[in-house]
Amino acid sequence: MDALKQQTPEDTTRLTRQERYLREHASCPMCETDLKMNHDIDKNQNKVKEIAHCPECDLCARTTDHLLH
Ligand SMILES: [Zn+2]
Repeated sequence: MDALKQQTPEDTTRLTRQERYLREHASCPMCETDLKMNHDIDKNQNKVKEIAHCPECDLCARTTDHLLH
C-alpha cells in the first residue's frame, strides 16, 4: 500500500497556486475534460452569466454571474 502512495504523480503539487486554480476551473471535476465556456450576456440586467459546460458528461459544471460596469 505504501508503494502505491509513493507512485502518486507530483504534477499537481508542482504547479503554482495560480496554475492549479486555472486547471481546476478549466476542467471537469468528474472526468477532467476541458470545459467549454459560454457567456450569456443579459443586457437588461447588466449581467454576464459564465457557464462552464463539460461536453463529455453533458453537465453544467459551474455558472458564475458577473456584473457589467
Ligand atoms: Zn465531465
